[in-house]
Amino acid sequence: MLIFKKINHLQQYISTEKSKGKTIGFAPTMGALHLGHTSLIGLANTECDISVCSIFVNPTQFNDPKDLEKYPRTTEKDVELLLRYDCDVLFLPDVEEVYPPNQVIAQPFDFGSLATVMEGEFRPGHFNGMAQVVRRLLEIVQPDALYMGQKDFQQFSIVANMLRQMKSDIRLVMTPTIREADGLAMSSRNVRLTQENRILAPRLYEILSQLKEAVLSKKDIEKAKETAYSVMSQLEDFKPEYVDVVDGYTLQTIKNIDEHEFVVTCLACWAGNVRLIDNVVVKK
Ligand code: AMP
Repeated sequence: MLIFKKINHLQQYISTEKSKGKTIGFAPTMGALHLGHTSLIGLANTECDISVCSIFVNPTQFNDPKDLEKYPRTTEKDVELLLRYDCDVLFLPDVEEVYPPNQVIAQPFDFGSLATVMEGEFRPGHFNGMAQVVRRLLEIVQPDALYMGQKDFQQFSIVANMLRQMKSDIRLVMTPTIREADGLAMSSRNVRLTQENRILAPRLYEILSQLKEAVLSKKDIEKAKETAYSVMSQLEDFKPEYVDVVDGYTLQTIKNIDEHEFVVTCLACWAGNVRLIDNVVVKK
């Protein structure tokens, strides 16, 4: 695996490979890698000639400075994992490389109501920061395909919208959420869960799965959401932020499943001081 810290070195390599007709599959990450991340690399390896992973803890997408400070950083282990999963290239820039001090900041995108609901409501500025770094990384890497996880469903929808606004021809690929054996969605933040909260955390997936069943069996969606929220609040040390059933294209709350072809149920919940998100597709 080649490791680049500087943009010009990475770009030299990529343009040489592209001139030989090689295709580039790119998976941007914030490190503290797990099997969710390596599944992105696995698919990039299957579909493209060269897989590129970036590890960059993007300061502009953290609305909470404490969250940024506490974000796990495990570069050595990450490199080992990427080697094991045959990643071809790791891009490991520092903050000044991605955001040079004298660079003009690009005008933020307008994502409309896609970015004001769910995560947008509870993490102001998060999606602007995320879109800023994804746009910048795409500019640098210039991949043919971009691999992102369903785990961050709203993030995926916003990146899809951004690529449309940019009239980009990069192919955006969604990969399924990789879970622990007990159902908990893998996340870099899981290592920060207390032992007690780690035991309770798989309940979030159960709650989403029960909500999915309730919606599919035409139960009242509002009532089913209230039940889900109340079950979450009863978990010791857990504080739900939201649980919703939304249209998978617009991310707006739905009332009647029959009026939508793509439906997803999503939640965010604090487990102690760790914020967890998850989602389950109800129908597509
Ligand atoms: P992150 O490092 O958390 O910013 O995530 C980098 C990429 O990995 C994003 O596209 C995520 O959606 C994806 N990802 C994170 N966790 C998982 C998971 N459990 N399963 C699949 N993809 C994931």
